[in-house]
Amino acid sequence: MPNPHAGRPIGPEVTDADIAAALEDLSVPALLMACVHLCEDDAQRRAILDGPVRPQGLFLNEYQGFMTPEDQAAGRALALDVIRAWRDRGCPEPEPLPPALLHEMMTWLACDTVGDEYVPMVLEELALDGADSRAPEPMAGAAAYPVVIIGCGMSGLLAAIRLQQAGFPFVVVEKNAGPGGTWWENRYPGARVDVGSHFYSYSFEPADHWTEFFSRQPELRAYFERVAEERGVREHVRFGVEATAATYDDESATWTVTLDDGDALTARAVVCAVGQLNRPFVPDVPGEFDGPAFHTARWPDDVDLTGKDVVMVGAGATGFQVAPAIADQVRSLTVLQRTAQWMFPNPGYHDAVGPGVGWAIRHLPFYGRWFRFLTLWPGTDTGLAAAKVDPAWEPQERSVSEVNEMVRTMFTDWITSQVDGDPDLVAKVVPPYPPTAKRTLQDNGSWLRTLTRDDVELVRSGVSRLEPDAVVDSDGVRHRADVLVWATGFRANDFLVPMTVRGRGGVDLHEHWGSRPRAHLGVTVPGFPNFFMLYGPATNLASGGSIILASECEVSYVLACLRMLVEAGGDTVEPTQAAYDDYYERTQAEVKTMVWSSPYIGHGYYQDEAGEVHGLNPWRLVDYWAWTRDPDPADLEVR
Ligand code: NAP
Repeated sequence: MPNPHAGRPIGPEVTDADIAAALEDLSVPALLMACVHLCEDDAQRRAILDGPVRPQGLFLNEYQGFMTPEDQAAGRALALDVIRAWRDRGCPEPEPLPPALLHEMMTWLACDTVGDEYVPMVLEELALDGADSRAPEPMAGAAAYPVVIIGCGMSGLLAAIRLQQAGFPFVVVEKNAGPGGTWWENRYPGARVDVGSHFYSYSFEPADHWTEFFSRQPELRAYFERVAEERGVREHVRFGVEATAATYDDESATWTVTLDDGDALTARAVVCAVGQLNRPFVPDVPGEFDGPAFHTARWPDDVDLTGKDVVMVGAGATGFQVAPAIADQVRSLTVLQRTAQWMFPNPGYHDAVGPGVGWAIRHLPFYGRWFRFLTLWPGTDTGLAAAKVDPAWEPQERSVSEVNEMVRTMFTDWITSQVDGDPDLVAKVVPPYPPTAKRTLQDNGSWLRTLTRDDVELVRSGVSRLEPDAVVDSDGVRHRADVLVWATGFRANDFLVPMTVRGRGGVDLHEHWGSRPRAHLGVTVPGFPNFFMLYGPATNLASGGSIILASECEVSYVLACLRMLVEAGGDTVEPTQAAYDDYYERTQAEVKTMVWSSPYIGHGYYQDEAGEVHGLNPWRLVDYWAWTRDPDPADLEVR
């Protein structure tokens, strides 16, 4: 089978001018790495890798490696020669390159050392050999282990694809009318992803269709719908049905999943893929508001904000996107933001993808894969350094280490440059707490520009009371409103609510957890055999990385557990108590050394009411990848 990433031949109708035009849209560093594959010999390859035209650094979302326009032009000219020669040879599929050379190419693009331990993970993610090596082999005997998947968002859909490949019978239960989870539900104006789409997409699916580098919700929703359709998952999904309980029966070693339509499904395993950011949180505020009031994740299709006075409570990642998207429409917008948010310059956040990019991903061998690396590398693990607390650093109220202080300076410079140094606004928008302690937002200037409008007011307060036509803030100031928008986030620390999960002996999972949700590798819990969570406790990524990559790791672990079960012909698989306790204790100890545990944040969903952090994964993704790819059999018990 041809390598799906090795490009479809370029026909004779594609002229040199056509190719040159397409190259204008591309990342020159990624393009040059694609060209290394197309070279005819080592001398030509060395000319690229050792030549003067090279990136000067790699920074998140900066796709040209800080190359000068002259160097970019030189890189494109060089690439055109290589591509033309390859086309004139008939577009042969490139020979595989040796792993050492691929490692060198990673280092070249990263402008930094790429540790040896990353190479297998990156090679698996890029799949330059054309093999989807995370796809499980069909398992003889899998047919005897039916599985219920709860949720058909990004991770439930992924689990379905992998279970199907392995040969497990499965049913997916989805409360919404279609797939996509968060991207189905969050239809608020301005909703878009903040991890580059060419990385925030399944590793095994083509990425030639994205029309923006950070796709908007409709495009993401369409993506998940298409994948569900094309992968044959859709016909296994019961849409519009919510699972209310999952109950294990010791005697039969089966799970019964109770549905809100009165039905129940029985299976030998459950994959619970309900997300961390799914159940809207709306604070309990006294008083009544008479106008339309809704949470951002429940944005009504028919609400018309034209000429209305709108009060929006909350401005985290969501409110930050809503405000610029509705400001032109409303008469006035008042944003009650209790805590300022750190933001990160991303000038290209709203940029369209030029047509050359899709063409290159389709036709230039491995361009799309190296472009994925450009998005993956600076967004994965590198952010952990800035989040690590140096206990000797002072004052911890403003930053937690020298690196963190440098980040603070960079973010502060960006913010102040966007508001023309307006001292009132600067005082409101520069957070006092250390950077990266809460989810860092990405800004191309649109949020701060919106705040400078006369018809938009940023109020740095919480909310204390509702009146029929107003919201009263925590300083007692009344803000008139026709429409009230709650951009107040999700019940991120209430894992799996409102579902009841009962394991061996009828033990309730929420009671077992108490206030400390936990799971081995974020996925399994002793006493809850064959029950697997995706995006469960300690799996959210706070310092970069794509949650899709994290989910692909979790699903690899699920399949590895199931393989052990099926091969043993057993009834149950679950982690040992020792492995579970050890993982929890180590993870908690690590989390406490990170800025997300800082006592100076004030508010934020990373911390629960006691200030503890249970949702975040503090580990390097490369370690998490290794642990989930090859789980230690000693950590698992098969009966
Ligand atoms: P969020 O980050 O938790 O923000 C909630 C906002 O509501 C904050 O401003 C918070 O203030 C405020 N708030 C909460 N309770 C309040 C109360 N009782 N009184 C007054 N204000 C209150 O929620 P979100 O914006 O929905 O984002 C959640 C997560 O979803 C993000 O971190 C991200 O992971 C994901 N997300 C991603 C994207 C994207 O990819 N672009 C977009 C949206 C969301 P405090 O800060 O003071 O708590």
